[in-house]
Amino acid sequence: MIDLLNLNKIQLRDLFESWGEPAYRAAQVERWLYRELATAFEAMTNLPRDLRARLTESARIGVPRAMAATASADGLTRKALLQLDDGQTIETVLMLYADAPGSPALEEPRQVKRRTVCISTQVGCPIGCPFCATGQAGYTRNLTPGEIVAQVLHFARAVSPAPLTNVVIMGMGEPFMKFDVTWQAIASLADPERSGMGARRITVSTSGEIPGIERMAREPLQVNLAVSLHAPDDALRDALVPLNRKYPLRDLMRAVGAYVEQTRRRVTFEYALMDDVNDKPEQARALAWLLRGLLCHVNLIPLNPTAASPYRRSPDARVKQFEKILRDANIPTTRRVEKGIEIAAGCGQLRQKESVGESK
Ligand code: SF4
Repeated sequence: MIDLLNLNKIQLRDLFESWGEPAYRAAQVERWLYRELATAFEAMTNLPRDLRARLTESARIGVPRAMAATASADGLTRKALLQLDDGQTIETVLMLYADAPGSPALEEPRQVKRRTVCISTQVGCPIGCPFCATGQAGYTRNLTPGEIVAQVLHFARAVSPAPLTNVVIMGMGEPFMKFDVTWQAIASLADPERSGMGARRITVSTSGEIPGIERMAREPLQVNLAVSLHAPDDALRDALVPLNRKYPLRDLMRAVGAYVEQTRRRVTFEYALMDDVNDKPEQARALAWLLRGLLCHVNLIPLNPTAASPYRRSPDARVKQFEKILRDANIPTTRRVEKGIEIAAGCGQLRQKESVGESK
């Protein structure tokens, strides 16, 4: 049975046309799916009864089942473990923030200005970064465009009538492994007749899949690009982000440079600081040298340690020192606001916890 969330605009229009329905039916259904957040065709009251019956017979709306949900003590980070039709599970996180990026989160609903959803693109991840719970758990399959969008709709329902403001594609998986699938989902989120989220409010994060960066540079939608760097040299990055063995730093930086030149958009580099692994002053200087002259921004992330990995977060003093070296070198640098460590908000951690039981 066809999941309507898997259909792009043309496919949805073609479906209704093949049923002999007027073209505006597609727009009506789009509105129900993406704006009214309907989970059943029966709710689509402006459709004729026989069309609703036909939809119920031959189509469906992919609504993943929330298997587990947790919230941080302040209620500002909420994580859901969502079960897909085939029983596989993925993680999706909602983060509430005050207005300015990097400022501390405040109470909902009065002062919250940004409601950001972090979504997954794969069940597991084939990249296998050793510090990441998802990487440690292995890879199962890609998500469909509908399964990617459904994660956003899940939290859109949860915060409604307040709107979601941002989407970050930084959850489980490498989003550029299946570029077309990820991009179809992004197009649905940005489409003014669907979710209507401005493209600039969507960020896609890659571990360095160069063909995806090159394709993104050619896309008209002005989505933000983030690159998970985590190391300033190939020897270390080969170990921390194994995709580096295929796309080494020199090639990656060349691709990012070409992206910036073509789009004139700033790129964010994510850098998870790990105690005594990638947080030394000489590594900060090497990173500054690597990024010199590039329109970019570095986001330093306090590592969410996972039980099965030997990697630990850097002490505060070293984080500050690392940040200062980058800033002194004129590299715009921020530290990610720490959210949800107590609810295992790090990528793949809730799924890992659920699969081994709550006693862990
Ligand atoms: S950090 Fe990202 S790319 Fe690396 S294994 Fe985890 S999900 Fe995959």
